[in-house]
Amino acid sequence: MTTLLATWDRPGEVAIQSAWKARSQGADLISTLEQGLATAELDENLIAIGAGSVPNSKGIIELDASIMEGREFRSGAVCAVTDIVPVISVARAVMEKTPHVMLAGDRARDFALSLGMKPRDLSTENSRERYAEWLKTQPDVAAYVHASTDKMGDTITMIGLEEGPHVVAASSTSGLPFKLPGRVGDSPIIGAGIYADDEVGAAGATGNGEALWREVASLRAVEAMAHGMTPQQACEHVIRHLIRRQPESLALPSVVFAMNVKGEFGAATCISPFQLWVCRDGEFEMVVFEPISL
Ligand code: ASP
Repeated sequence: MTTLLATWDRPGEVAIQSAWKARSQGADLISTLEQGLATAELDENLIAIGAGSVPNSKGIIELDASIMEGREFRSGAVCAVTDIVPVISVARAVMEKTPHVMLAGDRARDFALSLGMKPRDLSTENSRERYAEWLKTQPDVAAYVHASTDKMGDTITMIGLEEGPHVVAASSTSGLPFKLPGRVGDSPIIGAGIYADDEVGAAGATGNGEALWREVASLRAVEAMAHGMTPQQACEHVIRHLIRRQPESLALPSVVFAMNVKGEFGAATCISPFQLWVCRDGEFEMVVFEPISL
């Protein structure tokens, strides 16, 4: 049995369908998640991942991605990368071809070029229009980022489980809309945006990247499962902790989801509902989680 999870309604559907297609054609678990995220990055209609996503406050699209496998904790990540898609493939190459975990910014871009990837303009008419609109109405970056839930909820974080048991987690995003240039959120940070441990399970996050990073949300969820909680209990434990300890972060939604090595999964969200796609050997289902409070 292969179980795949992917965040959010529309982008999650694109990613999980593509991931399952790869899996059904024989892909290993890492390639399955990479394929799902790469397809979503190349889909210019998805506004928070890859080409056509929402730019930073200077109008430039900067992408973050990460991947981690639970056998030996091998991990790769890139952050603040411009002109390159799919960055999930660059993250995978960092894991497989370098002794490092993360490469950043222009140097990550150089690394991608050294792999033979071609630079391209990631903006689209739609992303340029969004930016022009924002420039007219939102001159204060900090106020906007911290006061708006607009355009959030398209980052894709995925978890995969196969017999072994073996788990992989991966994430790809353009981060918060109109963020300060160089800003990096939770998604490419191992422990914050993703975590995978074959002895326990895996977890992922999406939403308010600063709060989720401070919470080290994914590792916190996996550790909670290691100490006996179900995935649902573990996710609620993390989000309740965030609500209690970081009340100011509640201007934006934060979400954690997790799956244990038995294939049980759960999620918790604050402020707004969260949709999680589940695929068990080609059977697809979208589960909606309502926000919790203390
Ligand atoms: N967590 C992402 C970030 O802060 C954004 C998102 O999940 O929508 O970069």
